[in-house]
Amino acid sequence: MKLLYTNENRYLVHNIQNIVENSGIEIMLKNEFAAGAAGDLVPHETWLELWVINDANYDKAMQIISSSFSHENDAIWVCSNCDEKNDASFEFCWKCQNSAPSSRQL
Ligand SMILES: [Zn+2]
Repeated sequence: MKLLYTNENRYLVHNIQNIVENSGIEIMLKNEFAAGAAGDLVPHETWLELWVINDANYDKAMQIISSSFSHENDAIWVCSNCDEKNDASFEFCWKCQNSAPSSRQL
């Protein structure tokens, strides 16, 4: 297993998880329940982590992730709930988890 992606913003990690899973790559989350038990832990250690199960899929998964970030500026949708800008590949607003409008361009 290899670490694919981690971020202090758990919604962002979940969005990346959706994107990678939709391409058929098996992944798993670590620290999914760590935030509730943060207590004495260093904050960084409670970040949600996305791991690829099969190392052979690592490069493909990284490519999917980087391409999902690279069209940040040409295809975005604006959340109707909180006005945050979201990447077109995101199914839900990274900030408030509102669903993307079904008319968004992919
Ligand atoms: Zn939102």
